[in-house]
Amino acid sequence: MSETVTAPTAPLRARAEIDLAALRANVRTLRALAPGAALMAVVKSDAYGHGAVRCARAAVAAGANWLGTATPEEALALRADPGLPADVRIMCWLWTPGGPWREAVEAGLDVSVSGMWALREAVEAARAAGRPALVQLKADTGLGRNGCQPEDWPELVAEALRAQTAGLVRITGLWSHFACADEPGHPSIAAQLTLFRELLAHAEEQGVRPEVRHIANSPATLTLPESHFDLVRTGIALYGISPSPELGTAADFGLRPVMTLAASLALVKHVPGGHGVSYGHHYVTPGRTTLGLVPVGYADGVPRHASGTGPVLIGGKWRTVAGRVAMDQFVVDLGGDEPEVGSEAVLFGPGDRGEPTAEDWAQAAGTIAYEIVTRIGTRVPRVYVNGEANGQEPGDGN
Ligand SMILES: *Cc1c(COP(=O)(O)O)cnc(C)c1O
Repeated sequence: MSETVTAPTAPLRARAEIDLAALRANVRTLRALAPGAALMAVVKSDAYGHGAVRCARAAVAAGANWLGTATPEEALALRADPGLPADVRIMCWLWTPGGPWREAVEAGLDVSVSGMWALREAVEAARAAGRPALVQLKADTGLGRNGCQPEDWPELVAEALRAQTAGLVRITGLWSHFACADEPGHPSIAAQLTLFRELLAHAEEQGVRPEVRHIANSPATLTLPESHFDLVRTGIALYGISPSPELGTAADFGLRPVMTLAASLALVKHVPGGHGVSYGHHYVTPGRTTLGLVPVGYADGVPRHASGTGPVLIGGKWRTVAGRVAMDQFVVDLGGDEPEVGSEAVLFGPGDRGEPTAEDWAQAAGTIAYEIVTRIGTRVPRVYVNGEANGQEPGDGN
């Protein structure tokens, strides 16, 4: 996990500022968009690079009812956090044989089961732990990734019901995941919803009484009310980023970006025209100019694919990465300007101070904004602002 800093202190080489007030406001906005559903804050992969513990606390304080992670290790780490309510529901869905099933049962995690092997491991763990496993059966309604194939669903449901009758599992949820919810009108959306309803109906006819049925991720939460069921699982929208520019901007949905990535200029110097810049000399100064050294690179998550294209705000002007992004640093052509060494270079943020956004970097690097924020490296300290000084969040009961 990354180093964390609770308040801005000494100037740092680089920092990812995490605005917890923005995160809390995003939770409230999403709850209002799905008023009939519970909200799961998806905080996998260190909360998409924002810091799992602080973001989970803030999300729960603002009204998230559930936390979701990919791996059981991520979920167990949250369960061990004393700053979270001990009874907050935590679900994890990416299991492999031999995983920490018993620890998960003992920690009261909701575990996803996509097939018979996983159900068997959950049952074994429940026997060993002496308490039932909380199991959510996952159907593949068309994503073609994890989840039980429809033809295998009756067998999985029947076996889970047998284990429930034996007191070894509680079937707490039935769920699935969309393939193309970020492409409005894509025919797979309606097809997945239809199949999901059929698989729910089958399980319920057999006697399953799930606490939660869910399929909606961020794009579906924002645009498909008919997909909300009992629970929505929001990841990227919590962090104030639109799932895709085609759906609308973050501001269109009333969401505010949570992360600002900034660095302190490490050097400003004059160079003559014709000077090659960075590895491979893919940029050559067109005339006498000034160069600024920005001390972050691909080890910090600045994509090397944004060489020659990534934007950065320095002294009120957008500059572009000159030449290649290196492991620890990149260079910008300052066009003769002489900002002071140590002055701020903002790679991305909410955008309202004129800085680029994570979406701008995604476009520069040919990827999605999810990847930009999630890959910000552990060498970049997260600086939390607008949280509580002691790391607790208002309303968490401590
Ligand atoms: C990551 C993930 C989500 C959240 O997706 P967003 O598009 O970030 O909202 C929801 N459900 C599952 C199964 C996931 O893996």
